[in-house]
Amino acid sequence: RRKIAILTSGGDAPGMNAAVRAVVRAAITRGCDAYAVHEGYQGLVDGGDMIRKMNWDDVQGYLTTGGTVIGTARCKAFRERSGRLQAAKNMVKEGIDALIVCGGDGSLTGADLFRSEWPSLLVELVENEEITQDDADEYAHLNIVGLVGSIDNDMSSTDITIGAVTCLHRICECIDSISSTASSHSRAFVVEVMGRHCGWLALMAGIATGADFIFIPERPPWGEDWQDRMCAEIKKHRDLGKRKTIVIVCEGAIDSNLEPITAKGLMDLLTDRLHLDTRMTILGHVQRGGKPCAFDRNLATMQGIEAVEAVLSSSPDIPSPMIGMNENKITRTELMEAVALTGEVAKAISRKDFVGAMDLRDPAFNQ
Ligand code: ADP
Repeated sequence: RRKIAILTSGGDAPGMNAAVRAVVRAAITRGCDAYAVHEGYQGLVDGGDMIRKMNWDDVQGYLTTGGTVIGTARCKAFRERSGRLQAAKNMVKEGIDALIVCGGDGSLTGADLFRSEWPSLLVELVENEEITQDDADEYAHLNIVGLVGSIDNDMSSTDITIGAVTCLHRICECIDSISSTASSHSRAFVVEVMGRHCGWLALMAGIATGADFIFIPERPPWGEDWQDRMCAEIKKHRDLGKRKTIVIVCEGAIDSNLEPITAKGLMDLLTDRLHLDTRMTILGHVQRGGKPCAFDRNLATMQGIEAVEAVLSSSPDIPSPMIGMNENKITRTELMEAVALTGEVAKAISRKDFVGAMDLRDPAFNQ
């Protein structure tokens, strides 16, 4: 009888509970035992009561609940081999041979490392006499499957991540509210939204709310005179009779010299240059809280079921998969590859040659 565990790790994302529910119920349906590891990797390192068997009814109500009921954590210990050794011991002790991790790129990087180290962790545990050679033989192959829970939509190899659409809806609701007060007072608002290396939320929210200007890390505003061009654009909108100005800035936005573009800097700019009554709103954690939207509930459900299927159809020669969605289909890609590619993109954004490579200095590109 397979024992499949699920944990949620890193930043919480709406829909993580739906993923846990789907994994638990799909595992039970397929004749497996389901376990929830509480507090992310910390629960794996601590073991004991943190790893709990789940029954069908234990996940009642999970579908519609925001955040993650089983808890998440940033776990320092898991970044060290000694922590991962402890985690491996607890898994073998509980008899768990498959782990489904729902988290962002950090969590999935950790998952990939854990998988690659697994055989050597078992050897070390046998040497330390913490497990027997029979245990090591029985648990020689660890199945790891990644589910991407991230509001930023910042993972490569998938079109969308669990939580991103809910977060986008929430941002749009907030900007709609800001818009009505902005119009009333003829004010300008600079709204900062989440996204460390990824401007998806800012870009999509900007399009959905008809913002005047959007700043994202992937495409810094071109040239030294971007402030002039932004002010000219906003003035043009005002001259056309628009009573409100909305500028959306992603928290990771940078200029072409890789200097951060901040909400405060933009607010001062609009105040000083255009003499607009400008306010700034940093949306912060309201963006990630609350009920998941229907899309995220369904995405997490389909992907949770697929994760269990991936565990059951795996073999020692198949690398660990990451469950994604591409062109409207639930997909499996290699976790290792997706993690590596995501790392490359994040690194590229913080490099000047990337800015050049995207031809951002070419005026034609910015028309
Ligand atoms: P997210 O998964 O949302 O990107 P983090 O980057 O904070 O969030 O990662 C969550 C947890 O995953 C970390 O606290 C740590 O326990 C684990 N983790 C992240 N990166 C690594 C790594 N390179 N090696 C081992 N564990 C990692």
